[in-house]
Amino acid sequence: MKKIDLPGPMIGIDLGGTKIFTVVTDTRGKVLAAAKTESRPEKGVDAVIKRMAVAAQAALKEAGIKKKKIAAVGLGVPSPVDQKTGVAMLSPNLGWKKVPVVRMLTDQLGLPVFADNDVNLGTLGEFTMGAGRGARDLVGVFVGTGIGGGIVVNRRLLRGLNSTGGEVGHMIVVPDGPLCGCSNRGCLEAVASRTAITRDLLAGIGHGVPTCLRELLRDSDNKLRSGVLSKAYRRGDLLTVEVMNRAARYLGIATASLINVLGTERVVIGGGVFEALGDLLLPVVRQAVHEHAFDTAADGVGIVPARLGDRAVALGAVVHAAQCLE
Ligand SMILES: [Zn+2]
Repeated sequence: MKKIDLPGPMIGIDLGGTKIFTVVTDTRGKVLAAAKTESRPEKGVDAVIKRMAVAAQAALKEAGIKKKKIAAVGLGVPSPVDQKTGVAMLSPNLGWKKVPVVRMLTDQLGLPVFADNDVNLGTLGEFTMGAGRGARDLVGVFVGTGIGGGIVVNRRLLRGLNSTGGEVGHMIVVPDGPLCGCSNRGCLEAVASRTAITRDLLAGIGHGVPTCLRELLRDSDNKLRSGVLSKAYRRGDLLTVEVMNRAARYLGIATASLINVLGTERVVIGGGVFEALGDLLLPVVRQAVHEHAFDTAADGVGIVPARLGDRAVALGAVVHAAQCLE
């Protein structure tokens, strides 16, 4: 991991729909302590804020650092965050609408807090400390239950007028395609996310297509985890290979458009599915980019796996907070 210069020890928090992941770093971005706890959004906004504060205090104690030494707290939220007001605008995962998360956590912790959308911060983390080293412009694409993304232009996150920029998962790649969670049809997320892959595999199984997935599913409580997909793909299971290669091709088509539009320098692809199968799926993505992007635009563009894993958002939050202090 690349080391950076920070104005002091920092706290980074990744608030998700189910988990809160917290890190404490030194002034070079090295993680001194990390803690994971449940977010329990069903208990209400105040309870979630309190859980984050408790997690931060616990991580500080483990790191052996006094709170007054901390320069700032960075926070990633699964929502667009208004950069002027620190309000998390809308988060289906947390059931939040217009929550003044920055003010609330500042009140709880007594430290300066800076928040942004989690995937934006994951992209910023990779850009600064992970797979984006040395690049000036970068696109991050994270394939999970949904598909999130972030865009860095000239070393800064592109947020857009309403802090909603970077939603690469909702680029439409199949007009009139499958329904997306955003109520459009044929978004990248609706054809290439883990949710879409699961839907297509279960449909294949339902139609009686021969596949080793039936047997693998029996051995893993009927859950299509990344490990199961990886096993089936590596065994050459035809259904799995077909469905996952199709998803990777769509990802490549969307990536080709992003390269054509932005002239970006590097594309970092992460998320659970790619962590388990990146060595096999990235070549499929690269091939689709090669077929669909302008040769001159794609020349020299690196399409690379993410490096920071599940720490990307918390580390990006630290970087974001440091940038806000500048
Ligand atoms: Zn969508």
